[in-house]
Amino acid sequence: MPEHIVITGARENNLKDVDLRIPKGLLTVFTGVSGSGKSSIVFDTIAVESQRQLNETFTWFVRNRLPKYERPHADGLEDLAPAIVVDQKPIGGHSRSTVGTMTDVYSVVRVLFSRYGTPSAGPATAYSFNDPSGMCPECDGLGRTVRPDYGRILDESKSLADGAVLFPPFRVGTFHGQTYVNSQDLDAHKPVGEFNAEEREFLLRGRGGRVWVKGSTFEVENDYEGLADRFERLYLKRDLSALSQKTRDLVQDFLSEGVCPHCSGARLNEAALASRIDGLNIADVAAMEVGDLIPVLARIDDPVAGPIAGAAVTALERIEAIGLGYLSLDRPTPTLSGGEGQRLKMVRHLGSSLTGMTYIFDEPSVGLHPRDVGRLNDLLLRLRDKGNTVLVVEHDPDVIAVADHVVDMGPGAGTGGGQVVYEGTVAGLRDSGTLTGRCLHRHPDVKKNPRRPTGRLWVRDASLHNLDDVTVAFPAGVLTAVTGVAGSGKSSLVSGAFTAAYPEAVVVDQSSIGISARSTPATYLGIMDTVRKLFARETGSEPGLFSFNSRGACESCQGRGVIYSDLAFMDPVTTTCEACEGRRFKDEVRRLTLAGRSVVDVLEMTADDALDFFAPFDGGTDKGVSRRLRALRDVGLTYLTLGQPLGTLSGGERQRIKLATQLHRTGAVYVLDEPTTGLHMADVDGLVALLDRLVDDGNTVLVVEHNLDVVRRADWVVDLGPDGGKHGGRVVFEGTPAQLLRAEGSFTAEHLRREVR
Ligand code: ADP
Ligand code: ADP
Ligand code: ZN
Ligand code: ZN
Repeated sequence: MPEHIVITGARENNLKDVDLRIPKGLLTVFTGVSGSGKSSIVFDTIAVESQRQLNETFTWFVRNRLPKYERPHADGLEDLAPAIVVDQKPIGGHSRSTVGTMTDVYSVVRVLFSRYGTPSAGPATAYSFNDPSGMCPECDGLGRTVRPDYGRILDESKSLADGAVLFPPFRVGTFHGQTYVNSQDLDAHKPVGEFNAEEREFLLRGRGGRVWVKGSTFEVENDYEGLADRFERLYLKRDLSALSQKTRDLVQDFLSEGVCPHCSGARLNEAALASRIDGLNIADVAAMEVGDLIPVLARIDDPVAGPIAGAAVTALERIEAIGLGYLSLDRPTPTLSGGEGQRLKMVRHLGSSLTGMTYIFDEPSVGLHPRDVGRLNDLLLRLRDKGNTVLVVEHDPDVIAVADHVVDMGPGAGTGGGQVVYEGTVAGLRDSGTLTGRCLHRHPDVKKNPRRPTGRLWVRDASLHNLDDVTVAFPAGVLTAVTGVAGSGKSSLVSGAFTAAYPEAVVVDQSSIGISARSTPATYLGIMDTVRKLFARETGSEPGLFSFNSRGACESCQGRGVIYSDLAFMDPVTTTCEACEGRRFKDEVRRLTLAGRSVVDVLEMTADDALDFFAPFDGGTDKGVSRRLRALRDVGLTYLTLGQPLGTLSGGERQRIKLATQLHRTGAVYVLDEPTTGLHMADVDGLVALLDRLVDDGNTVLVVEHNLDVVRRADWVVDLGPDGGKHGGRVVFEGTPAQLLRAEGSFTAEHLRREVR
């Protein structure tokens, strides 16, 4: 077997004829500032070519049905192995996918119940909420139902005659409304809130008794029908497509989603739930935290069931080993963070027996507290020791430390990067003098003069998820870091409780930007209008010609620059449009220039270059172009080109471009979730400077962060814990970073002490 992956003359994105030999069977970490070209080499070159070469091994017949991967721009790519990319893209988002189903542990637990549960509900499908034989009939196995929200339908402080019914089609004076106001069995003048249980039941579910109701042309005596029954009959228990969109929208406002009352969210039918092991039914088992479930299953020593339970325990121990022991098997995967999802995908691969593969990870330390990075390292090394090549893009010095081989990209970002500035051992990197090497020598200190708060922002008695009645005062007018191990409750406190109390807070997170495939930094920042006007004025043409969403679009690809092939059984694939070579515009548009550059050239400029280019035009139409481009510089994204599709941005870059549109405020509260994601140690300095500037401009900034380089420079720290899940959810420390250094009982304090020494 060849000992290296050999790359020669790689030129994808910003790569400058990169030659590389990556040792096989070892752990290689790729480092370098954001935008230096790490992803271009690892994902856009190695992973893409591995997949393409794998596809080439199939017969012509199969190949023609597979997506066509384009060969990456490189002179040579040899001795690759099949690659598995474990990234942070959200795990398939449908509501039936849970931690248990995606890791396959739930299917083992189902087999266990079918063999060992008493009474047994039948074979294993009888315990599946995705199978008709096991699912709860009320919610079809979703665990949640959509139900009328009587808090909104009724104003209980009013009587029926005074308009207690708020749902417009049932209001006083309407045809339906008369049923309730005219009923002889209800007191129409007593506030609904004062009804006793019986009266209330009659209002909502009553039957019988006749009521006079008037239509516009008739008057009839109708059977009384309870308000809830009538609402459900007319709006829920029927083919909703028969309702007008207007009615559907109206009804929507009076519905709420909630736990299914039939199965209490367990998703399963009675037979499945009646079956128990050790007094627990399968829903109880799925609701337990993984860390608590392991000893329960490990106790089973029955000769038939023991080995099955053992298989489940092995898988659960992997989940725990990766620092996710606070999750439960019934946790829906759409509610997991990107980092949690990536680590769960990793669990799946650790269980497989494949060897000779290339595993590729994208910043697997995201969302991990420094305490747990050691465990992550163990897993990466275990994967290597099974005979695989492991490639990791990482910024965390503790992960870099265990690499067998390091490839440091740089020296700068965008056109200023794209070269290998160092390759070799970690020890060699420290002495290499590269930016990464120099950063590894830092011995930072904590902030000595924290700012004085200008007020307090209270969150009181928060109990979302694992939060244990948390009351905390966040200082206003300063930079606060919220810390704690994964699962300790940081997001629940900040994204949940805090933003619920302060809805006007500016939340800047990594979630996808709800935009089309045509969005680019230029459209997102809102500078394209001005750019089009400048070109139109200069060339005497109409502005629409300078838009690939309008008259300027290449006709073959309608301005997308790529052609999509959607295959039912695989990820959709894109190939560059041959007519415009991916430039998105018609040929004629490229001949129309402003200061010697076409609009295509402008979209290929980095934000940095564009700043220089547009400076002379600032006096004219709009100063906005430069101001908005400078915002990109402030968030460290000048290496992006104006026309780069936003879909190619990483989570961290998405968060920073959102932040770029939210600067220039005062008196605002900013909430950021791990803003250092994707940032090199050197980039973190720039980010902290930006956060400091926001605070100095009169804002309050709250960051959820693991990066100790940010924590030590905050004015205030709120540390949650002590551990994850039900062992967390409490505030274990509040104070300045200097006070944190002396704190007891906090993992964050322990690691900060080690960092600053
Ligand atoms: P890193 O992974 O080190 O942050 P990348 O490899 O993502 O860096 O980016 C290197 C350069 O290539 C940057 O200038 C980036 O803007 C550019 N780039 C990355 N992906 C694309 C793309 N799909 N289209 C155009 N430019 C891209
Ligand atoms: P952190 O942000 O510190 O990693 P979280 O606030 O995400 O912690 O999680 C705290 C606890 O709440 C964990 O036990 C987690 O499993 C649980 N949790 C978080 N989000 C959800 C959710 N959407 N549904 C159910 N449980 C959740
Ligand atoms: Zn149900
Ligand atoms: Zn085209």
